[in-house]
Amino acid sequence: MRRKLAAGNWKMNGLSAQLSEVEALCAAHPDPKVDLLIAPPATLISSMVVTASDHPLAVAGQDCHAQESGAHTGDISAAMLKDAGASHVILGHSERREDHGESDDDVRSKARTALAAGLKVVICIGETLEEREAANTLDIIAGQLAGSLPDVLTGENTIIAYEPIWAIGTGKVPTMGQIGEVHDYIRSKLEIRYGEGVGLSIRLLYGGSVKPSNAAEIFAVSNVDGALVGGASLKADDFSGIIKALE
Ligand code: PGA
Repeated sequence: MRRKLAAGNWKMNGLSAQLSEVEALCAAHPDPKVDLLIAPPATLISSMVVTASDHPLAVAGQDCHAQESGAHTGDISAAMLKDAGASHVILGHSERREDHGESDDDVRSKARTALAAGLKVVICIGETLEEREAANTLDIIAGQLAGSLPDVLTGENTIIAYEPIWAIGTGKVPTMGQIGEVHDYIRSKLEIRYGEGVGLSIRLLYGGSVKPSNAAEIFAVSNVDGALVGGASLKADDFSGIIKALE
């Protein structure tokens, strides 16, 4: 059985004072029945690891470089994330793809490097509104899966987040039927490429305007193993509501 996962992506939000939300979250869920993960900005990784040291909450980076080290001013390597205490890294978020021109190839290279460094990866995919309206969603998803995922991975070290770009930060959510269609499709593609054992063990998160008020409905959809949450992960109360819906 796949263990449920509630993952928060703080994006470019959070100063040290924001760690009080993590304290509150840990206090509200002393013994969570689902896996918890937060990706703070890189500047807060070490301090969040300390804040959550007595708690199973895991900490993630939001990106890493495809190379192990070198002359790349401003970038962060997978080993650095690991060294700071992160166990996971989010890769290929649509904001990285858009703001930094990241291609599927880039995402796959980063994933290989991150896995080799011992990090677990959360690989994001998702279509634009134009692609959805042109009925191209499943083709886009197939292309992103083929291009962004490394050939060698396990259900233990890889998580996939389906995030329709038009649903991120907009308050718009696909219908449950649309979410289910894509998640079932991703599952079938994974089984074909990696075999049934691995294909069935990779967790699939939905992301895009998940809130306490819609979480239960989304989590009831087939092949949804949790959520990747942006805005609603910044406040302990909101994220807690989502976690409760998953438990
Ligand atoms: P949102 O962001 O929950 O604020 O829509 C989701 C994401 O980008 O992971």
